[in-house]
Amino acid sequence: MKKILILGSTGSIGKNALDIIRNFKEEFSVVGLTVNDNIDLLEEQINEFNPATVVVKNNLKAKELRERIGTRCRILEGEEGLLEITKFEDYDILLSAIVGFAGLKPTIEAIKKGKRIALANKETLVVAGEIIIKLSNQYHSEIIPVDSEHSAIFQCLVGEDKKDINKIILTASGGPFLNKSKEEFVNVTIEEALQHPNWKMGNKITIDSATMMNKGLEVIEAFWLFGLSKDQIDIAIHPQSIIHSMVEFKDGSIKAQLSLPDMKLPILYAFSYPHRLNYSQILTDIKKIGQLTFFEPDFDKFVCLKLAYDVIEEGGTAPCILNAANEMAVEKFLKGKIKFSQIPELIKEALDVVNNHSNATLENIFEADFRTREFINNKFK
Ligand code: NAD
Ligand code: MG
Repeated sequence: MKKILILGSTGSIGKNALDIIRNFKEEFSVVGLTVNDNIDLLEEQINEFNPATVVVKNNLKAKELRERIGTRCRILEGEEGLLEITKFEDYDILLSAIVGFAGLKPTIEAIKKGKRIALANKETLVVAGEIIIKLSNQYHSEIIPVDSEHSAIFQCLVGEDKKDINKIILTASGGPFLNKSKEEFVNVTIEEALQHPNWKMGNKITIDSATMMNKGLEVIEAFWLFGLSKDQIDIAIHPQSIIHSMVEFKDGSIKAQLSLPDMKLPILYAFSYPHRLNYSQILTDIKKIGQLTFFEPDFDKFVCLKLAYDVIEEGGTAPCILNAANEMAVEKFLKGKIKFSQIPELIKEALDVVNNHSNATLENIFEADFRTREFINNKFK
């Protein structure tokens, strides 16, 4: 029985993970759950999964939950609570599924405990990839990707030698605006941007998919996770989202991983690796799929993609600045404060203005995140 701690249990990934655990009661148990402020859903999850400890980030909501459920389980609160649960709870696997930069610190604590990290929070690798990979080697903490593209590549690489890779090909659905012109980006609405054609996900990553920053963040995530050069990371638009990514080897052979788009599969794999469990709920009838198509991404239309490749080149805190600016820009767009087309403009401005620190320490990374948010907030005062 593997004991699982879920950071972000009320989110899209968190709920999918609980669905998996519900299906595999003999294999997995829940020892801890954390949420930002959705205590109604957390209370239901406590009743069903009986965790030893939960964390509510919002202090007022933590107090309210204590009043509701008493001492039925330990309730911690705030950012300290997130660090405490990852440091002291007894668990085998951390599912890191908080959205954004907020996932970084608790994920580091779990790495330092030498735990397996089922990593959904791609921002952790984007902002601090070099440090994270070093720590995971130092503390023998396995990082198993949950992001479907990286899970696909990870699966394709089982039994292979990294030296034999020519390149990896990250597939991208292209999001809801694949067929819109750049000029039309000025007028797209929040509702349109939140309509992803193939995946149902949290709001932040759904907007990232519409700008294609999601693929940009995934390029950086792959860069650190698989230790490749940026020229070895290619992107193919594949609107059906059936092939989740591919690896091309030296001899020209290409391996791919396929399934219907459903995050339960990469979550289950990150939990069960190196084994596979019997799971018949998401079987892909390949004869019903019809066509699979692939084409080049448009870097001129989706500026965020180009910015992501650029910050890999720049290194230091540049990816952190890109990430913080993106989180802020997405938030401003969702609040109706900026147009969709302004998201890449704001990010570009932040990258030009905020000081990049090479050979970044963790301290430099927290500073860069803070400065970038401050810069963008000041613009909207
Ligand atoms: P979501 O918005 O649906 O859920 C986020 C979860 O984190 C919630 O439980 C929320 O309570 C918690 N949370 C939010 N802000 C927090 C904070 N400041 N402190 C503590 N907890 C906080 O997000 P999601 O779509 O599940 O995505 C989670 C992560 O997984 C993201 O990094 C995303 O890029 C990645 N990811 C998601 C998908 C997907 O299909 N949803 C696919 C691949 C990768
Ligand atoms: Mg993905």
